[in-house]
Amino acid sequence: MSSKTIVLTFDDAVVNHLSFVAPLLKKHRFGATFFVNEPGCFKNSDLKNYMDWPAMKKLSDLGFEIGNHTRNHPNCSKLGKEEFEAELGWIEDRCREFGIPAPVTFAYPGGPVAENVIDTLKERGYLCARSVANETFRPGRDDPFRMSAAAVQDNSGGLFEEMVRRACGEDVAVLVFHGVPDPEHPWVNTDPKRFEACLNFLAEQHCLVVSLRDLFA
Ligand SMILES: [Zn+2]
Repeated sequence: MSSKTIVLTFDDAVVNHLSFVAPLLKKHRFGATFFVNEPGCFKNSDLKNYMDWPAMKKLSDLGFEIGNHTRNHPNCSKLGKEEFEAELGWIEDRCREFGIPAPVTFAYPGGPVAENVIDTLKERGYLCARSVANETFRPGRDDPFRMSAAAVQDNSGGLFEEMVRRACGEDVAVLVFHGVPDPEHPWVNTDPKRFEACLNFLAEQHCLVVSLRDLFA
């Protein structure tokens, strides 16, 4: 492994993940995981701002990982086992239907760990579950079902650079982006120019940039 391992993850199936983010990642030969929901799951959302399933299949065919972010993006800590299994299973079924490899990674909608669903994730063969806690993750030491990641966006100041700096040796920086840009959720917006600069920075630092499943390969 390179001296700096970075995992890039992109949440919520925003349409520019395929149209803008993926080509830039390919240019740098970076891996990434896209955590998807069912299109239209967000209240009052305009479908044109989100990928449909054929678009997600294209991302998968480009070599990127599709991870499970639930059907409806609920607060999983409030769900019973059956409700959670329905949320998880919906995405698994859609992946099967569209020829996308079965998801093996999960991201908690909204960020915090939902302790009540960890056993179900393990039973169903998931490898890890990503939360948001702005800490690095060390494989082999840290619990993969309470994986901490850092949400980096326009309003996160120098957190991106800070996390890359802290990725060192066995400490991996798992980074979370949303839309580039994100018109419906401006609090997690990333400006496209800023995003390009972030990828250039990773390249200059000779980072190994991979998907989440790659950490467990
Ligand atoms: Zn999300």
